[in-house]
Parts: sequence; structure tokens; C-alpha cells
Amino acid sequence: MEKSINEWFLTVFGTKLYLALGSATATADELIQSQRTLFRKVSQSVGEAKSKRYSEQHLTDLFNPNSTYNTVLHGERECSICHTSTATLSPYGKGTDAEACPICNGLYRLGEQIVGSRDTVFVLARPNNNDTCESIPKVEVYVNNWNDDADNLRLYLYVVTESSLQKFEANHEILRIYSKNTAKTGHNVFNRIWLADYVARKDNGQVYEFEELATSSGLGEDKGIKRLGVLRADVDNLGAAFIGGFISEGSDRFKYGTLSRYADLSRDLAMFFKVAVNKMAQGDVQGFGTSVMPFTIWANKQVTTRKIHVIYSGGDDVFLVGAWDELLELAIDIREKLAEVTDNKITMSAGLALFSPSYPISQMATITGLLESVAKDNDGKDSIALFGFETNSSGEERICRHVYKWDDLINNVIEDKLYTLDQLFVIPGINEVQDSKMKLGKGLIYKLMELLQGILNDRALGKHINVARILYLLARLEPKKNNPTYESYKNFVTAIHRWIQSEEDCKALLTACNLIVYYMRDTK
Ligand SMILES: [Zn+2]
Repeated sequence: MEKSINEWFLTVFGTKLYLALGSATATADELIQSQRTLFRKVSQSVGEAKSKRYSEQHLTDLFNPNSTYNTVLHGERECSICHTSTATLSPYGKGTDAEACPICNGLYRLGEQIVGSRDTVFVLARPNNNDTCESIPKVEVYVNNWNDDADNLRLYLYVVTESSLQKFEANHEILRIYSKNTAKTGHNVFNRIWLADYVARKDNGQVYEFEELATSSGLGEDKGIKRLGVLRADVDNLGAAFIGGFISEGSDRFKYGTLSRYADLSRDLAMFFKVAVNKMAQGDVQGFGTSVMPFTIWANKQVTTRKIHVIYSGGDDVFLVGAWDELLELAIDIREKLAEVTDNKITMSAGLALFSPSYPISQMATITGLLESVAKDNDGKDSIALFGFETNSSGEERICRHVYKWDDLINNVIEDKLYTLDQLFVIPGINEVQDSKMKLGKGLIYKLMELLQGILNDRALGKHINVARILYLLARLEPKKNNPTYESYKNFVTAIHRWIQSEEDCKALLTACNLIVYYMRDTK
């Protein structure tokens, strides 16, 4: 299998992609009792396979300028998407001048077909001569016992709507049908493939463009910063959970370390990311764990369907794109549910970055991946890194100022700092006008943020000047004693006095202020 897949990779991608497999043998007892050793042996074996990627025959062909590997890839032009040089290019998608290779075009069709119709099935089939239906990336599957005719060995994978299955069958010999997310019965139907495929749609069924997702962020049309959010997250220390997760204390340590339990853990995690995350992205958090209401940052917000696209969710990780504020709320839901269904035994870390919707998606993925690494580097993981990177004062280093343990984000940033400000202030565009509240305008919040950052910088240098400045700011805000806002003012002073005592509270308040600014900023 390794050899045949690598031949296909060589033909289609050259040496850019390859598959390395490793294995180790074990007795049943070793499988359960000495997994650490076994995992190490397998890793070693994979490492060896990586350093010896190709067979002698592959290498001979690679060094032969006239071999198929070198002629196929020796096109004059290159694909405008993946930049592989290729002999065959065709128009990429609609409304662009871009031309792409068969693989990129196949992936485009796959994406289109997966989101385009909800009632699709995957079909493994052999086309007849008059095949008009384009398969998704032409991965050739070789089936050894099919028959001896080489042409008959080529099977392709298609995405077909259920309604056109009969028409499809006229031009194809169908070998297998896999249903997507729902159970189906019938001729040739094999298995159900779980796929997190939720995309936000408008009332007319159309899928939201990135631009429209960004526009829908915030609490209203003209409120808040209109940005696309990108979330990447995965499970922390997954290897450790598998290696040590079922080993208990006491005499019968390996009692629970059975193969079926390992298989179950693997399957349940995959199902969490494929099925539960897909449901939560739609705004439905019922059915696993206890909470039934989706998390919202502001108490009065109603969640209908979330403006989020699932780009990928499965295995142990997620990659989501959507309105930045809904994405943050969903991230918290996912983390809370994961903690609940695993009894806090399995944690995850995430990066959430904000982008202008026209930014290249590959760059969005890279930067968000870097944020996720920052969250993983936080002591004990179980963290999220928010918003993006800033350069430090000397402009040399890129840093993320908003990295939190999930519990600190929820309890300290949102439910303490943000809610306190919401209680004490009228925040334009966010809450209702009340006589007893002071007004939190942009001028005040920017001043507050500047001083908080100053306090954080001072702490590192052993200075106190910004503490004095923030107290001066508070003194200037003091209303007359008979003013209805006097009580709120007093509470605000008490809160600030408490918060500036610790770095954690200053940092959390700064992040809360950042969030508020994103909600109130002019769309411009
Ligand atoms: Zn390409």
C-alpha cells in the first residue's frame, strides 16, 4: 500500500508529498503493558521510513529524465493555486482568470459539491467510456481482486446527489456507496461517513461569503469591528491520554487498558469533533453534557444559527471560520463540552485570530496556527490565544498579549471584568441607557487601556507612575454626591483599586476592554 500510494504521489506531486509508514510487532501483553516502549519502536520505524522514502526502482525512475515522473511534472506552466508545474491546466472556479492543475480543480469541485447540496453520497465507481461526470481529485484506488484487466483496476471517488444517483449509475459501474452523516440502506450502500460539513447559509440557501461572515459580526449592522475570525484548536497531550489514560493505581494496574477501550476513546474523540462540534457550530448545544443554552458573551444576545463555516473538524482538531464574536462563543462551548464529557481529563488549546476577509486564507491558517502554538506553550496548556500578534515596543518581537487558561478567560475576563463594566456603565451599542450608570465612551476606554498597558509595562521595570495616572483619571471622573451615577462611580473606584493590585487582573481588564472596543468600534 505504501509503495502504491507513493507512486501516485510521485506522479501527481513529484517529491513534494510522500507517505511514510512504520510498525512494530508486539504480543498481546506488550500491547497493553509496555505501550511506551511500543510507541517508541513505532516512532523509530516511521523515522527510518522517512529517511528512506523511495524504493530502488522509484529512485532509478526519479533520476531518469524520461520517466513518467519527470515528464508529467515537466509542464511549461504552473498551477496558480499550488504552484506545481504541470502539463494540464484548466480554469479554476468561476469568475477568475486563474488556471489550476487537475488536483486543485478536483478539490475545488469537492468543496463545491460538499456544501452545494446537503443530500450527497460518496460513490466509489468505475466510469464507462461516456463518463461526463467529473470525479473529485482523481485518486485511483487499486482493488487487487477486481480482475486482471489493468484498466478495470481504476476506481474513482465521486460526490453524487442522491437524486442523480440513478442517472450516474447509467454511466458508471458502482462498487460502493457511502452515506454522509445519515444512515442509509440499499443496494451497494456500505457505511456511513461522519463529516462535519456545517456552513452558514442565508434564508435562500446560499452559503455566506467570507466578506458577509465578517459583516455579520458584532451586535448589529453598524456596530463593532467587522472582521473574520479564524479558530484552530486541538486536544492537548493526546499521546499521553492514550499511553497512560487507562492505567490505574494499585495491584491490577492494567485492568482497564483493553484494546476496546482504546478504540472507544479514539472513536469517541473523533465523534466529538465530527458530530458534536458540527451541531454546536449550528448553535445547538443539547444532547451531550448538561448545559442546553449556547454560551454568549452578552447576556441579552439570542443565538439562532451561528455564522460559522466548518472548514475541518475531526480526529482531535478543528479549523473554523466565521463572524469573530460568534466564533469566540463557539470556542468556549466546545471547550466546556469537552471538559464535561471527559470529566476534565482531556483539555484542548486554541488560537483565535481576527482578519480582514480579503486576507489570503493560507496566511490566516498559518497565523492562527502560530497563535495556537502560543496557547500550547502556556503553562499547563488548556488555553486560548486571542486576536493576533503585536510587535513589542522596539518592534523586534511578535507577541500575543491575550493568552488565557479557558477558565480565566471565562471567569476572570468575561464574567468578572466585562460583566462588571457592563453593570456600571452605559456602553453605546451594547447595553441600555440607565440613569444610575456612567457612560463608557471611546475616549475613556482608550485612556483606560493605555494606562493598563502602562501599569503592566511598569511592573516589569519596578515603576508606579501609571498607577498614579489611573488614580488621577478616577478622581477626575468623580460625579457630585447627589448625582444618580455616584454609586456606580464608587463601585468602579473600588473595582479598579482591587484590579490594579495584580498583573492577572490588569491583563484581564485590558482584554475585556479590547473586547468592548471591538464591539463598539465604527465599522470603518
Ligand atoms: Zn494545483
